[in-house]
Amino acid sequence: MQSLSEETTQHFMKHLVLIGGGHAHLAVLKALAQQPNPKLRLSLITPALSQTYSGMLPGWLAGHYHLADCQINLRPLVTVIGGELILDQATQLNTDQQLIKTVGGRVLAYDLLSINTGSETALPASIASENVLAIRPLEGLIKAWPQLLKQAQQQPAYQLAVLGGGAAGVELAFAIQYAFQQQSAAAQVHLVAPQLLADHAPAVQKRVHKKLLEAGIQWHASRAQLEPTGLILNIGVNLPVHQVLAATGAKAARWLSSSGLALDSAGYIKVNPQHQSLSHPNIFAAGDVCSRPEPTFGRSGVHAVYAGKVLAHNLPAYLAQTPLRSYRPKQCSLYLLATGSKTAIASWGGFSASGAWVWCWKNHIDQSFMQQYRSHSTELHASEQQL
Ligand SMILES: Cc1cc2nc3c(=O)[nH]c(=O)nc-3n(C[C@H](O)[C@H](O)[C@H](O)COP(=O)(O)OP(=O)(O)OC[C@H]3O[C@@H](n4cnc5c(N)ncnc54)[C@H](O)[C@@H]3O)c2cc1C
Repeated sequence: MQSLSEETTQHFMKHLVLIGGGHAHLAVLKALAQQPNPKLRLSLITPALSQTYSGMLPGWLAGHYHLADCQINLRPLVTVIGGELILDQATQLNTDQQLIKTVGGRVLAYDLLSINTGSETALPASIASENVLAIRPLEGLIKAWPQLLKQAQQQPAYQLAVLGGGAAGVELAFAIQYAFQQQSAAAQVHLVAPQLLADHAPAVQKRVHKKLLEAGIQWHASRAQLEPTGLILNIGVNLPVHQVLAATGAKAARWLSSSGLALDSAGYIKVNPQHQSLSHPNIFAAGDVCSRPEPTFGRSGVHAVYAGKVLAHNLPAYLAQTPLRSYRPKQCSLYLLATGSKTAIASWGGFSASGAWVWCWKNHIDQSFMQQYRSHSTELHASEQQL
């Protein structure tokens, strides 16, 4: 039972609800753990206990990492703050009443809300089928992968197609082809995409194309539609495949559409450079779920991570009525794209490079990112053992 003083304290506390444990919210949790805010009561709604770091997922598929290396346990981060971890999924937001409803039936009232729920895979109608594995949510791919690898080993001439020529599609194709080769599966990966890395410089596209050829991945510069016999490419080719993996771009979650929040035409939450909703000042959003004023702003982990640092400042600052900070995205971001074996391609504006040293660089950045969140788990574990 709560003491009277506890109840009184809670009465004066503001309830900060975080929806989604994405890249930006990791920074918020870390900041609150380092600098506790006595005026805040925190709840995190997340469908999974662990947040998977997409930057390392291709490395896991390729066999370079254990799954645990690529996942951050959210519980220690929330426990350190004294917050509540709600293993559930937000399904409805009522901004008039400041209420969130979850799939599991919980209703939470908030004073301050932050949304970092990422995006969903946009499946074109021509390939939508329950047999197509979408990369988002990542948990689906993680669950399916061991079985998929087994099938590739057992089925003679197993064919897998990755649809989508963005960073995710390209990295997945490289990782899977490498895994097949390492696991002695006589299997073939096809990459089906009209263009390779359309947002990157021609030098990067050339490097990727060359590396695809070296890796033995067949790139089909085409769109595709799914038929019972396999994929029919727009270039008139029938591609019989056993498995289709869709990395066909992002779409906004539908539950946001009835929220009353200002959304862009694609359904993403419109925010200002402080990552504050344009319609509701007590709601913030970051990562793939938000829509920034800059027309060239892409959906990427890089932006989610940088915006997280600003969000970590702005959420307490909003309550304290002190100035908010802005996230000013750089003209171009650095992308380090893993190419299966322990090699990678760097892309930064017009600059590109590739080799084993780029992979070491990427590995160092990724491991350092993960380490920040592991140290909190370790500290908590140590303090629990002392009790
Ligand atoms: C294979 C792959 C490779 C990639 N490579 C790169 C790269 O090299 N560089 C780069 O910048 N980007 C890359 N990306 C893109 C990058 O992963 C995304 O842009 C990034 O993950 C977005 O981060 P986020 O924090 O917005 O969302 P996420 O990382 O998707 O996190 C969102 C979280 O919210 C949870 N959630 C979703 N809905 C709800 C709900 N209703 N209620 C509660 N919780 C919810 C999800 O389960 C998830 O844990 C890659 C993506 C993939 C799949």
